[in-house]
Amino acid sequence: MDVEAIYKDAGALLEGHFLLSSGNHSNRYLQSAKVLEDPKRAEMLAQKLAEMIRSSGLPVDAVCAPALGGVLAGYELARALDVRSIFVERKGGEMELRRGFEVHSGERIIVCEDIITTGGSAMEAADALAELGADVIAFAALANRGFCRRQGTTAETKPECKLPREVPFFALADFEFSMYPPEACPMCVEGSEAVKPGSRGN
Ligand code: ZN
Repeated sequence: MDVEAIYKDAGALLEGHFLLSSGNHSNRYLQSAKVLEDPKRAEMLAQKLAEMIRSSGLPVDAVCAPALGGVLAGYELARALDVRSIFVERKGGEMELRRGFEVHSGERIIVCEDIITTGGSAMEAADALAELGADVIAFAALANRGFCRRQGTTAETKPECKLPREVPFFALADFEFSMYPPEACPMCVEGSEAVKPGSRGN
C-alpha cells in the first residue's frame, strides 16, 4: 500500500512553502483530517493498521482515541479489530473519560491517533486510562511524523518522542519533512513567501 500516494490523492499531504505553528518553515504539510474525509478510504487505512496489530499477536479489548483528532481513526480501527471504541477529551486541561464511557481494571487498550508527532496527546490519554486501571498495550496512528520509531522499522526514536520505548507503536507510514528556522529557509532564499497551511482556502 502506497500510503503517501493515498494522502496525496486525498489532498492531505500538501507541498509548498509552509509556516508551521512552531514558527519553522517546511516544504510539506499533513492535513490529517482530509484523508478521513472519504469513509471508504478511512476504512481501508484502518484495516491495514488492524492487520499489522493482529499479526503482532497482541490481544486487544478496546481502542481509545484522544479527541478530537484521533476519534475517526480510533473508531475505524476499533471497527476493523472488532473491539470497543472510546475516546478521552480535554476538560480543564486534563484528558478525561466522559459520556458514560468506562474502562475495567486490566482491560487491554490501544491508544489511537490520526497522526503521531511527538505523541504528547496520546501519552496524556494513556496516563488517564492507566489511572483508571486499564493496561495500555500499544499506540497506533495512521501517520507517523518520524519522531517515534514505529514497529517494523529500524529508524531511531528521536529525543522529542514522548511515547514509552517499551510499548509497541504501530503506524502505516513515516512522513518526515524538511523543517527550517525562517532565517535558514532555502525557499525564503529563493524569494517565495511561507503561508499558513489552510490559509489559501484549501
Ligand atoms: Zn521559508
